[in-house]
Amino acid sequence: MNMKKCPNCGAEINSEATRCYVCQAWIQENDTNNVVDRPPEFLATLLFAWFLGCFGIHRFYSGNIPIGIAQFLTFGGCGIWAYIDFIMICFNKFKDGKGRYLRDYNANVGITIFAISLIPIGLLLLLILAIVFTIVM
Ligand SMILES: [Zn+2]
Repeated sequence: MNMKKCPNCGAEINSEATRCYVCQAWIQENDTNNVVDRPPEFLATLLFAWFLGCFGIHRFYSGNIPIGIAQFLTFGGCGIWAYIDFIMICFNKFKDGKGRYLRDYNANVGITIFAISLIPIGLLLLLILAIVFTIVM
């Protein structure tokens, strides 16, 4: 069986394949340099989710418009929904509007950014706890 490299993720795939089974990117026939419809990029989606997740911008960017609108209207599910999306992106569980995983995923970057995100999230939770404690006491 002849093999070729997926121009999107570099995986070895059947030379006859029109779609990569690893990253789900469409590949134009007999032209491994031309990916017709590439999934959204991992790092861009991650940054959108972190800075603008409460407005659902990462969902708009990754082609999931209905969920983007729902998140925009609910302020990212009060931030919780947006943060769950953010964690999914960090660990490569996030899919775009066409059910594909994000392009150029990097586990080291994902885990590092997730770890960094725990600092402000932890401080926020402490602040909320402190306020609740002050009111109750
Ligand atoms: Zn691929």
